[in-house]
Amino acid sequence: MIVLANFIDGTSRAPHGGAYLDVVDPATGAVFASCPDSDAADVAAAVAAAERAAPGWAATPADVRAACLSRLADLVQVRLDTFATAESQDSGKPVALARSLDIPRAIANLRFFAAAATQWSSESHGMAHGAINYTLRLPLGVVGCISPWNLPLYLFTWKIAPALAAGNTVVAKPSEVTPYTAWLLGTLVTEAGFPPGVINIVQGTGARVGEAIVTHEAVKAVSFTGSTRTGTAIASAAAARLKKTSLELGGKNATLVFDDFDFSDAAMATLVRSGFANQGEICLCGSRLLVQRGIYERFRAAYLDRVRALRVGDPADDTSDLGALVSRAHFDKVMACIERARADGGQVLCGGHRVAVPGRCASGWFIAPTVIEGLPAEAAANQEEIFGPVVTLLPFDTEDEALAIANGTPYGLAASVWTHDVSRAHRVAARLDVGIVWVNCWMLRDLRTPFGGTRQSGMGREGGVEAMRFFTEARNVCIDHGH
Ligand code: NAD
Repeated sequence: MIVLANFIDGTSRAPHGGAYLDVVDPATGAVFASCPDSDAADVAAAVAAAERAAPGWAATPADVRAACLSRLADLVQVRLDTFATAESQDSGKPVALARSLDIPRAIANLRFFAAAATQWSSESHGMAHGAINYTLRLPLGVVGCISPWNLPLYLFTWKIAPALAAGNTVVAKPSEVTPYTAWLLGTLVTEAGFPPGVINIVQGTGARVGEAIVTHEAVKAVSFTGSTRTGTAIASAAAARLKKTSLELGGKNATLVFDDFDFSDAAMATLVRSGFANQGEICLCGSRLLVQRGIYERFRAAYLDRVRALRVGDPADDTSDLGALVSRAHFDKVMACIERARADGGQVLCGGHRVAVPGRCASGWFIAPTVIEGLPAEAAANQEEIFGPVVTLLPFDTEDEALAIANGTPYGLAASVWTHDVSRAHRVAARLDVGIVWVNCWMLRDLRTPFGGTRQSGMGREGGVEAMRFFTEARNVCIDHGH
């Protein structure tokens, strides 16, 4: 049994109250670790350490901050397999995905913001009569970073790296469902050169640790990724304290396939991946697949062939395309959504059931990739985030109709558009009410670009300069001359 700890003030610490949570391997249903069930006292200790460290870290030259982030990236890089195995065991995702996506991206986040620390600059505005304004972008002090379970280390580092690069000290909380890799990262922080108190990791639940971070007076800003429900609660708690928040929330993303679609192997593979990568547990997954009527039948046949060929299996097996869903509770939720879709008149074209994986995974939470058609755009399965391996198919006739369906949910995170008509691509991209549009691709990420959603998918943008701006306070200095 692995016993995880908090990382506070440069030391590994048991939770103040001595309570622990079970950490379960979703592929087997077995408890393999215990995670601190920390409380407000642990958060207070972490914030106090971060406050003590804040002036020193803010005054640390950017190249030294960058060197610490780069060293942390190096230390993860040489342990890539250890981190990937841990991520897979903790979340149920295929180890091959953790090795090719999650951990490399966590390393890239650290390296990207190491470079950002030294390469970003602030604005200056000259005035006609010769006065000049320049903008100081100052660290905020102590910031809170709260991340979800679906891409654990990937999203944890996506938040802490820009916060640290901009000169803040951090109190961070990974999801209590997947605490393992954040703990592993904590064991490398001192070796990477970060002074005590600069990075603090407090493990535990949202109700005890998350809320204590959000409501602590000394925490100046909160960067949160997770569900819309939690994001709304955080927004109201933060509003009462006029606290800055960045909220990256849920999605119900549409994929729009127009009748000039080329049916190439690469395009079909990307479309299948966009629905089922990480068991559909990616906020960016295209869970509504809108296909123009002229190619609908042909597309459905080709798509189903590929979806049926996906292998659901032991996440530790390199040949598994899909692993287990993250928890029993989430498995139950996704199965209930499928049942609701059937009750609403949807036809399950493939999947729709639990998969029994023999051997050590016999008690794991596996669901077959599921494709459903015949539901109106207003049905729950087309409106609510399922966050599992479930894709609905919807035919459409015209561009206007496709846009109305795509924009017709409360969410506005991402969309992908498949067409070779350049004019249509521009037109549709401009009219989709989302934060991110991919044309003839999906989840192709450039870390310099603004990342985030509209409406119920969030508030604010992360990535590149946007993240550096979020984690700093702008101060304008106006200098005149001749007085
Ligand atoms: P969640 O909202 O349940 O939990 C996210 C984090 O918030 C966890 O660390 C949790 O402990 C914490 N938390 C819970 N209640 C809290 C509270 N009251 N105060 C402070 N913190 C609290 O989300 P989840 O189930 O872990 O993640 C899945 C969701 O995340 C999905 O909706 C998915 O779309 C979304 N997501 C969004 C993005 C994005 O970039 N937009 C990326 C990944 C996941």
